[in-house]
Amino acid sequence: MNAKDLSIRLQKAAEFVPQDARLADIGSDHAYLPVALMLQDKISYGIAGEVVVGPYESAKRQVAKNGLESKIDVRLADGLEAVDLSDQVSAITICGMGGVLIRDILQRGKENNRLSGKERLILQPNVGERQLRQWLVAEGYTITDETIIEENNKIYEIIVAEKFLDTPEYSDRELFFGPALLVEKSLVFIEKWQHKLIKTENILNSLRQSDQDVSEKIREVEQEIEWIKEVLADAGK
Ligand code: SAM
Repeated sequence: MNAKDLSIRLQKAAEFVPQDARLADIGSDHAYLPVALMLQDKISYGIAGEVVVGPYESAKRQVAKNGLESKIDVRLADGLEAVDLSDQVSAITICGMGGVLIRDILQRGKENNRLSGKERLILQPNVGERQLRQWLVAEGYTITDETIIEENNKIYEIIVAEKFLDTPEYSDRELFFGPALLVEKSLVFIEKWQHKLIKTENILNSLRQSDQDVSEKIREVEQEIEWIKEVLADAGK
C-alpha cells in the first residue's frame, strides 16, 4: 500500500474527513492517510502523530517523499499530545488500534486539554467497538455515522462522532451493535454477527463449565446471545 493507493479500510475512514479539514491522524505509522488526503486537496493541514520512533521515521519519509513538509507536521508523541488547541484541528482520525486503546487516547486527550470538542472524530477500532461507543456517549458525543467493511477476510467498523448541544440517548443494545449499523443491517454486518454468535456460544459453554463464580458474566453473555439472535432473526438469517 502507498499513500496514493489506500487500503479500503483507510479509504472509508478518509471519506468521513470533511473537505478542507485540519486533520490530526494519531497512530500514523506511514502517514498514508494525511498524505493521501493532502494529495487529493481534501485537507488544508495535517498532523501525523506517532509514538514509536520507527513508524515516526517512516511517516516523516512519506511526507518528505511527497514534498508535503510545509503542509503536514509529523510529531513524535503519545496519543493526542501530538495536538495543541492552537493547531485548530477540525478532524481526528485514529485507525487500526483496539477500541480500548483509542478510548484511552481520547480520555487522556480530554484530561490534558487536547480536545476542543469541535473536532469530528473518525475512529476505526479493530476490536472493542462497544467500549469505545460507551466512552463517546458518556462524554456527550453523538454517533453521527458508522460503516462496516470487509477487507482481506477481516471485518472493520468505522465510527464517526461529534459533539452537539443535545446528545441522543442510546440503549445498551445500540452501543453493542452500533446504532447506525443496527439500522442498516448490511450483509457484512450480518456476516460479522453470525461469526460472533458461534464464538459467543462457545464462550458461554466454557463459562458454564467453570468452577469459579462467573454467574454475572454468564448473564452478560446470555444477554449478548439473545440480542445477536434477535438481530439475525430480524434480518431473516
Ligand atoms: N493508523 C494506521 C492504520 O490504520 O493503518 C496505522 C495502524 S498501526 C496498527 C497502529 C499505530 O499506532 C502504530 O504505528 C503504533 O505505533 C501507533 N500507536 C499506538 N499507540 C499510540 C499512541 N498512544 N500514540 C500514537 N501512536 C500510537
